Order: sequence, then C-alpha cells, then structure tokens
Amino acid sequence: MQRQRGAAVSEQVESGQTGVFEALVGQEAVVERLRAATRAAGDLLAGGPGEGMTHAWLFTGPPGSGRSEAARAFAAALQCPSGGCGACGACHQVLAGTHADVLYVRPSGLTFGVDKTRELVLQAASRPTSGRFRIVLFEDADRATEAASNALLKAVEEPSPRTVWLLCTPTAEDMLVTIRSRCRQVTLRTPPTSAVVDLLVRRENVDPEQAAQAARAASGNVERARQLATDPEARERRSEVLGIPARLDGTGACVAAAARLYELAEAEAKAATAGLDEQERADLKAAFGEGSTGKGVAKAVRGASGALKDLEEQQKRRATRIKRDTYDTALMDLVAFYRDVLAVQLGARVELSAASHEGDLHRVARASGPESTLRRIDAIMLCRERIAANVHPQIAMEAMTAALYQG
Ligand SMILES: [Zn+2]
Repeated sequence: MQRQRGAAVSEQVESGQTGVFEALVGQEAVVERLRAATRAAGDLLAGGPGEGMTHAWLFTGPPGSGRSEAARAFAAALQCPSGGCGACGACHQVLAGTHADVLYVRPSGLTFGVDKTRELVLQAASRPTSGRFRIVLFEDADRATEAASNALLKAVEEPSPRTVWLLCTPTAEDMLVTIRSRCRQVTLRTPPTSAVVDLLVRRENVDPEQAAQAARAASGNVERARQLATDPEARERRSEVLGIPARLDGTGACVAAAARLYELAEAEAKAATAGLDEQERADLKAAFGEGSTGKGVAKAVRGASGALKDLEEQQKRRATRIKRDTYDTALMDLVAFYRDVLAVQLGARVELSAASHEGDLHRVARASGPESTLRRIDAIMLCRERIAANVHPQIAMEAMTAALYQG
C-alpha cells in the first residue's frame, strides 16, 4: 500500500503533474484551504505570525472521500521546503509513511487505548529532527476510547510549539466536543462521479466505461470505486449482493440469503487480510533472523515467539475490524439498491448506482410503494446498528432479510 502511494507520486511527477494535493479527488475547496495553511506555516517557521496555521486539525468526510489522504498530503506539504512539491525527499518520505517527524497512527482494532495514546502524546511532544514540524497523523481517531480521548485532549490543549495534530474521523460528532472545539475542521465532500472516473482512467489505466460503472456503483467512495474497477471478484460479490432483493420470495429464501450475504462478506474480509497477514509474518521472521545459527539463536527464538504472538493478536483485531467494514460494504450496497428503487418509484432523475440490476430495480419498484422502500432501508440501517452492537452478523442479517421480504 505504502509502496503504491510512492509509485503514484512518481507517476504524477513523470506526467508533469506535480504537487502532493493533486491526488485529492474533487476536493478543490479543501485543497485551497490547505495550501493557504501551508503558506502560513512557512511564514511561521520564518518567524512571522503564521496566521492561518494552527496546531490541531480535524479531517472529516464520508467513507472513501479521502480524509486520510488529505491529512497525509497536508503533512507532506508542511514538511516539504517547497510547500508540497511531491518530488523531494520529504514529500516522498511522508507519502511513503517513513518520515522521521511524522507519527502515523492507524488503529488496527476496533478501539485505541489510553496507554498507547499517552505514549503517542509523549512522542509527539519532542522537537522535530528536521527543524520543521512534528506531526501526528491519527487515522480513525474516533476509535480512541474515552480515557484515550481525555489523554488526547490534554495534548491538544497544551501543544508543544512545533507539534501539529491531524485527526481523521468520519464526522465531527465522532470526536469529544472539547477536542473538536480546539481543532480547525476540514470537511471533505463526496467527490463527484466525474472526478472519480477521471482518477480511475488517469491513474489506474481503467477503461472509461468500466471506470464510469465503478464510480457510479461506489457512490463517491474512491477506495471502493478503485476496488470495483480493478478487482473482478469484488465486482462479482457486489453483483451477488444486489441480486438478493429480487430473490426474497419466502422465509426459506430469506434465511438462505442472509447466510449467503454473511458468506460473501467473510470472503471479502478474507481476501483483504490474507495477503497482509502472510507478509507481516514473513517480515517478522526475517527480522529475527530465522535460519541463522550461533549463540544468540535461543534468545532470538524466545523473542520471536513473543513477537509472533503479539503480531497474531494484532492481526486478529485487524481481521475483526476488516470484517465489520466488509459487512458494512455489503449492507451499503443493499441500501444503494433500495435508494435506486425509491428513485424509480418517485420518478426522480438521478444517477442509478445499481444500474447493472435495472431489471430487478424496476420489478421491486413496481411490486411495492415508496413507504415500503423506506421501511426496507430502515431495516438495513438497523442491521448495521445491531452488528455494531455485537449481535452476531448472520442473525442480524436474517432479521433484516425477513423485514425486506415483508416490506
Ligand atoms: Zn516536496
């Protein structure tokens, strides 16, 4: 992933399109603000008042709108002597996740604890080695527990002079109001379909028709659009999810559909974690010198087995999080289907996200009314809430498919 980001940057440079903010899709207003803040930061470093720069930022935006990418680009711009040229060592290091003065936090589990947060606050307080800024890029900061949030609040209240906090959450409400009020907020919008298509065609070399389909299907989620455009199996799974509503013709079909939906989400999660897990185990074993001989070996083996256990724990937590995300992706695909049904029922002229299942859309639209469609969307949202509250996903999905059937 990190290597890919680096590659994307050098592509930009080669194609004559430089600058770290170029990678943000359809976010012109945000880019303008961040550029202004970057100039102000330069002024600050030069001993000026640096008006327009501040030490705590909250990046919010719907899933896939690129809030972490925006924070990362801003971090690069702050560390770059030319304000984010995209070509220098500092830019490359920040984008690749290897810059010494940028601390990257990406919670692997569902929560982020207070001990780790205190450690982070301590690390963040030290002076930058580069002489520019010490930056903490905290993705999914909403996963911080209450105690962790309080530890974070102290850091944001009494910042070290050169430390900059970049927190990312889906919405501002996901953050303690006391933290939120001390941050400058940057809100990303859902990028327009045309901007996503453009990105897929230019950066991923996707065929324009395929790119358009993927962009519509992903409803502005850039990451999801990229996945649908480049991974035929992901397209296949989505297509099966969208086929579910039309198949719900009895209790047996509802139970079967829930089981299948669960299976599809599990398959998606497995595809997402398998490669990562294996690579990490291999890296860890290599780091502990597997296969070497000599005096240190017994000690190294003990160290390695402890580290391996830690890694397995961490991977388990990550798997849980990825599974949650994939259930959510499948359920949001279903929501998109019923939103399209509603549009057809109301005669609204909008871009259909489930256009590939137009026959099903019209059949379901004819067989029911808008009120029933709204109830069905509610049933899917309730299923998401139940899964978030730890109800077994398959059971929550069975209740949902039954509600979808009853309308
Ligand atoms: Zn640069």
